This record gives sequence, C-alpha cells and structure tokens, in this order.
Amino acid sequence: MSEIRTRFAPSPTGHVHIGNIRVAIFNWLFARHTGGRFLLRIEDTDQQRSTPAACRTLIEAMEWLGLNWDEPPLYQSARREAHLAAAERLLASGHAVREDKGGTGRGECIVFRMPGCDIEFDDLVKGRLRKAAADLKDFVIVRSDGHPVFHLANVLDDIEMGVTHVIRGDDHVENTFRHIALFRALGAPVPRYAHLPMIVNAQGKPYSKRDGDAYVGEFRDRGILADALFNYLALLGWSPGDGRELMTRTEMIEAFSLDGVQASPARFDMTKLLWMNGEYMRRLPPMERLDGHLRDLRAHGLDPDPAELLRVLEVMQDRIKVFSDTAAQTRYFFSDEYPVDAAAWRKRVARPGVLPALDELRRRWAEAGEWSAASLEAMLKATAAELQRPAADLIHAVRLAVSGTPAGPGLFAMLEVLGRDRVLRRLGRAIERASAVSASHDG
Ligand code: GLU
Repeated sequence: MSEIRTRFAPSPTGHVHIGNIRVAIFNWLFARHTGGRFLLRIEDTDQQRSTPAACRTLIEAMEWLGLNWDEPPLYQSARREAHLAAAERLLASGHAVREDKGGTGRGECIVFRMPGCDIEFDDLVKGRLRKAAADLKDFVIVRSDGHPVFHLANVLDDIEMGVTHVIRGDDHVENTFRHIALFRALGAPVPRYAHLPMIVNAQGKPYSKRDGDAYVGEFRDRGILADALFNYLALLGWSPGDGRELMTRTEMIEAFSLDGVQASPARFDMTKLLWMNGEYMRRLPPMERLDGHLRDLRAHGLDPDPAELLRVLEVMQDRIKVFSDTAAQTRYFFSDEYPVDAAAWRKRVARPGVLPALDELRRRWAEAGEWSAASLEAMLKATAAELQRPAADLIHAVRLAVSGTPAGPGLFAMLEVLGRDRVLRRLGRAIERASAVSASHDG
C-alpha cells in the first residue's frame, strides 16, 4: 500500500475551536499510527477573517498541542491561479459551463455540472453513504467576481497534496458527494473519507461558545495542560476499545484506528476534562507542579514560602484540578482575608447551641498538648458527646469558622496544617461575630 497522507485544513478565524483541533488530533494520530504523513493546509481564502494574526493563532495552538506537520504548510490563497486554471480545464472538458446567474449581464460564474448519476462512498466511520442523482444539483465553482469557491479549492489542493485520507467533521458529509464528482471529473483518485461525529453539549446540541470554554486559547489560559487537553479530545469520539482513558501519546498512537471512532455524537464534559487535567498535574515533576501552583498564588497576591505551600498541597492536591484554581481554593491557608459563605455561616455557625460548644472547644484546643489531626478529632468528639450535640454540628461550624466555606479537605488534616494560632484566632473571631449578631437580634 502506498504512503498514507492526511491533512488538517482549517480556515483560520482567530480562534481555534476544540472541534477543529480535535480533527487535527485524529488526522495526526492516524498518520503517526500508520507511519504516514500529516500535512497542514491553511484555507485562508476569506481575506476578512484569515488575517496573518489568525494564522498565527492557529499555528500556536498546534504547536502548543505538539501537532507537528511533516511538510511545509500549503496556503490556499497562493493557489488561486491553479484553481482558476483547473476551472478552465473543466470548461474545456465539458464538466463545467459558464452561466450568467443573475441574468444581469454583469458577469458570468462557472458552474460544475453533476454527472447525473447516484453517488456513493464508504465512509470509514459512518459506513456506506449514498445520494440519488436527483438530489445532486449543479453548483458554482468560480463566482462571478472570479473567486474560486471552497469545493473547487478544497478538492484541487487535496489532489496537489496527494491526500489519501480525508478525516474531517461530519458537517462536511453533504459536500463530499460533490467533491467526489469533482475528483472524478478532474481524473484524480478519490481519497478515503472518515467523517468524525460532532461534539455536542449536555442537551445534544453542537457544542459552542455559549456552553463554556470552546477555544484552545481559553483552555490554555485557564491552566489546562496541553497533554491533558490532547488526551481528552482524542477520546472525544474515539476509544481504544479496552476502557483505557489516561494514555500517553505513544500509547494513543499505537492504539489509534478509525474503526475505534464512533459514529454517534460525542458529548463534551468539562468535569471529565478537569479530572483528567488533575491526573496530568499529579504526574508532573514535583518542581514543575509547585511552580504552577506558585504562579497562580502570586498572580493573586499571595506568596507563601515553598515549605508551607507543600504542607498545604499535601491536603489540597486532589481537590485542585487546574493550576488557575490554586489561589481560590487555598487562600484561607495563607491569609486571614478570605471570602465567607454567608448562607452557610447562618446555617452552621449562627445557630442555637453552637456558640457555647465552639467556645468550649476553643478552650480545650488552646490547652491541647499535641496539635495533630488525630488528637483534634478525639477532642472534638469528646466535647460533642459531653455537650450532647452531634459531632457533625461542630465539624461544620468549625470548618466555616476557620475557612469560610463548607467545602474543603478533611477538617482535621486542614486544622493541623492551619496550625494552632490561626485556628484559635479564627474561632475567637467567629464566636465574637456570631454573638454580636445574636445579641443585636435579642435586643
Ligand atoms: N476549511 C474547511 C473546514 O475547516 C476544511 C474542510 C476539510 O477538512 O476538507 O471546515
């Protein structure tokens, strides 16, 4: 079998949608798996949108994700003369005609004439697809302003690049029938096609900007790691068939096949991507990981010393799924200025009977011989039992009082890391604040 050649053929717009970059990933994996070539063609004929800056954004996204291409990229805009020459050949061979569409006499366009037979092909994902001659209409290939249209340019460039496998989004299925007719009229071999399932949101609608982050740059800015995004997108419509999810690039290349691509839509799931990102974060070399957390803390005006940060990360690590969440999730470890969840506070702290219990607990913890998670827990439970209160009431109240939030790591490990001084100070502050509120209500 001759060499497999795939290509990614985006139209740069300044943003790179994850649906598009996933197409690149599948082409890349297929080429790497088969020992073929992965090519890049920039379909930049829309002068308004495909600016040099838009092309740069695209190339940066590919480089960030490690999607390297094997030959110099082909810029479609440079091929205009070749596209027009081919249109002339189609006119000469009778496959196309000039038409004055508007009947205004202002200019003629060139129309490709469909062959008048049914067209079918074996899609490598969707199976056999067929369209009746009656549903295949003639179409414009060069507009009256002299501009070659997408279909003509796309097919000619695939011929020029020797593309053997066209792997693209299934929004192009309808175009494929026309493209096949063009390949045949041009006397070129028809490539194999694989149309990838759409990426959809929870409601089954095409995933868009309105559903959340949708562009590669947004994921990068949010702190998602390139390897995690790559791995996640590779599994959006493909699976190795053995339930594996976290895979290195080498493993993905080895396992990739178009047989493993599903035909039904693939649902984008941010929670899963974050889980995966957390897993990739954990696998980073320790210094790199520490640095990622530190950068976010510093960007938010916090600057803990590394030893302190390491202690905090020991209890928080599994909860932080992306570096850019570090400050938001750990601020209370490093500063007394942190947000307090008012509703949870009213429910958990400003509640009859809780204040005296907190006060008693503070007294006992102040005298505790040892400040460890285990001893703090034993003392809290003993206090709750003596005061005949559920331990959970005290646990919730203490958590709110020292961190301001009902969510977080195991309370006692957190108290140990926070240290005696901070915990006692915050308990005191909470008791004061809550009694001031209840006094004002009594009066
Ligand atoms: N520029 C087209 C797109 O981005 C290319 C389609 C194709 O891959 O053939 O949708």
